[in-house]
Amino acid sequence: MRAAARPEITPLDEEQRKRVRRVLRRRRVACPSCGNRRRWTVGDALHLGFLFLDEDEDAYMIAVTCRRRGCPRPRTGVIAHRADVLEP
Ligand SMILES: [Zn+2]
Repeated sequence: MRAAARPEITPLDEEQRKRVRRVLRRRRVACPSCGNRRRWTVGDALHLGFLFLDEDEDAYMIAVTCRRRGCPRPRTGVIAHRADVLEP
């Protein structure tokens, strides 16, 4: 059996990060720790299609960090489809 492949990390450019922020606003995503909905730092995307069979093949987990000062657990993520964030 082959060794498991590393998860596929996709770095996002500024335009793609902007689109992720749009997705966060549209879905009214709130930080699970402090409830912040407005201030996020957007990180890289992790392709989920290979890893989790119950996700769509074009699903990505985008790392986001809550920027509210004093947030006890600022790191979270949002699942988005390729067309929402990666394609023009
Ligand atoms: Zn928070």
